[in-house]
Amino acid sequence: MPAHKSSSAVNTFDLMGETEEKPAKTLRQELLETTKYKDHDRYPEGTITVNKYTCVGVQCKLCIKACPTNALYWTNSGIGITEELCLHCEACVLCCMVDDCIKVTRKKEDGATERFSKPRDVLVLIGLQNTRKRRQRISDIFPTAEAYAEKFPRTK
Ligand code: SF4
Ligand code: SF4
Repeated sequence: MPAHKSSSAVNTFDLMGETEEKPAKTLRQELLETTKYKDHDRYPEGTITVNKYTCVGVQCKLCIKACPTNALYWTNSGIGITEELCLHCEACVLCCMVDDCIKVTRKKEDGATERFSKPRDVLVLIGLQNTRKRRQRISDIFPTAEAYAEKFPRTK
């Protein structure tokens, strides 16, 4: 008669192995999981700096209001940064009224580095992304020039 394993029998060494396989969460992951922002793994690598000499100061704080994760905060000596909370999303650069005051860099999936230090940098990127999406939508509907010509024949 085959020996049946009791349903309550637990192999402690198996459990230990399972626990070890899970990679430990970094401080960054733990902190970001407490925020409402879900898309936090998009740009895990990057940098952010704020130039306290060109920052307008306490009467502005627009970057603090724009930051989705509260990575920026006010201190007696200017803007403070919790780098582990920074998503490198560039929202703070977009709203800063002083060019080159906030500098954000981030590594893309393909390994290239993007840099933002003025609203124009962000707007150029948004423009490029929108153009790419428009092109994609058009080529989805009309994969060839012939398909377009068939739908919209030239009239004399
Ligand atoms: S890039 Fe700026 S707005 Fe975005 S998370 Fe970092 S500090 Fe906040
Ligand atoms: S938005 Fe720019 S100028 Fe305003 S507080 Fe932030 S860093 Fe300073």
